[in-house]
Amino acid sequence: MFEKILIANRGEIALRIQRACRELGIKTVVVYSEADRGAKYVRLADESVCIGPASPRDSYLSMPAIISAAEVTDAEAIHPGYGFLAENADFAERVEKSGFVFIGPRPQTIREMGDKVMAKKAMIAAGVPVVPGSPGALPDDPEEIVRIARDVGYPVIVKASGGGGGRGMRVVYTEAALLTAVATTRTEAAAAFNNPEVYMERYLENPRHIEIQVLADGERNAVWLGERDCSLQRRHQKVIEEAPAPGIPRKLIERIGERCAEACRKMGYRGAGTFEFLYENGEFFFIEMNTRIQVEHTVTEMITGFDLIQEQIRIAAGEKFTLRQRDVQFEGHAIECRICAEDPFKFIPSPGLISNWHVPGGPGVRMDSHVFSGYVVPPFYDSMIAKLITYGATREQAIARMDIALSEMVVEGILTNIPLHRELMQDASFKAGGVSIHYLEQKLAQRP
Ligand code: ADP
Repeated sequence: MFEKILIANRGEIALRIQRACRELGIKTVVVYSEADRGAKYVRLADESVCIGPASPRDSYLSMPAIISAAEVTDAEAIHPGYGFLAENADFAERVEKSGFVFIGPRPQTIREMGDKVMAKKAMIAAGVPVVPGSPGALPDDPEEIVRIARDVGYPVIVKASGGGGGRGMRVVYTEAALLTAVATTRTEAAAAFNNPEVYMERYLENPRHIEIQVLADGERNAVWLGERDCSLQRRHQKVIEEAPAPGIPRKLIERIGERCAEACRKMGYRGAGTFEFLYENGEFFFIEMNTRIQVEHTVTEMITGFDLIQEQIRIAAGEKFTLRQRDVQFEGHAIECRICAEDPFKFIPSPGLISNWHVPGGPGVRMDSHVFSGYVVPPFYDSMIAKLITYGATREQAIARMDIALSEMVVEGILTNIPLHRELMQDASFKAGGVSIHYLEQKLAQRP
């Protein structure tokens, strides 16, 4: 096992990784920007290194700064968390070339899965069902594009091969709008992802977002750890996640879960990963694979009892992978609310001083957060400041506990989306379970 790990991230996930390391008896090095100097995980770390100014480009995205920090502190491995450099194949490669272990998949896998056209091809080869669409990247010939769209069937969605974070996508309902949409998406993709390549999929009108968690050792051993329902989204960003997914027959989940594990074995996948699907009318359609730990990994931990960060570290350390599918048992239900520093209905960021912070507790309540009274939420980063997770024997109990936990929470000094979460816990459709990815936006649009 490693003696010392460098955590190349910030916020709640930096603290989460640190806790996993401490439980495993591993020393931690935390890197931080000037804006995060006072963070809790910086104080709790065995060592810390300031890697630059507040701007992510000059700190959390600076590969040389992070690798130098690992060199001066003698860390053996680097955990990238999520976001920032977590899915950057060049970073993973540079980490390994510099003699450190990258806690994640091989650089080549990250590169392949980061290119959505390549990822889809790999899934088709591995027998994972994908959204029907163009056979690969769209060609230049306009007539050819029109023909492909007719084959796929309207509405279609034009997506950037290099896209991420819900950006670089455009829905097209008519042939008249097609070519302009393709051109605009290409221009945007070139600017945002440095890759103008786009592809086309059938636009599913009312799907749910269901994803499968996997763990694999890179030696063709792999298990799947159940599904998560992440359909409550705004602008393609997840707001609430839960596990298991309500109302989907277990047989269907087991079948798709086994397909994902099998794909990992075929690819020689290493580490934790997530297969994201759209689910409609009893069918799963792969949209992308995330080659990192996800924000919502917590709900899987709650219903399986595994610590996914510790599993990532064990795999990276080359420990023998003894986990078998029969060891993965599911019990109860878990829900996660992403608590963000923002206006709950206008969605404008609300950084600043948290003058009073009180977290809820009680049975089945988990709070993953780096925040405390007196903490100043910096304006430079993602607005998520906490993840509130509740667990119950049943979905109803998990919801009831979430409702109570949210009502106990006190955050003063800034605005948060807690009022939105409280409304959702009372929402009849959410309570019934199984809403589509459009539900939250439709509900928000109807607010007076
Ligand atoms: P990103 O990497 O940017 O998150 P994804 O491919 O995972 O991109 O898609 C993000 C979201 O966009 C999905 O969760 C879904 O809401 C919507 N989406 C993507 N592809 C389709 C599709 N073919 N039909 C309908 N919605 C889609």
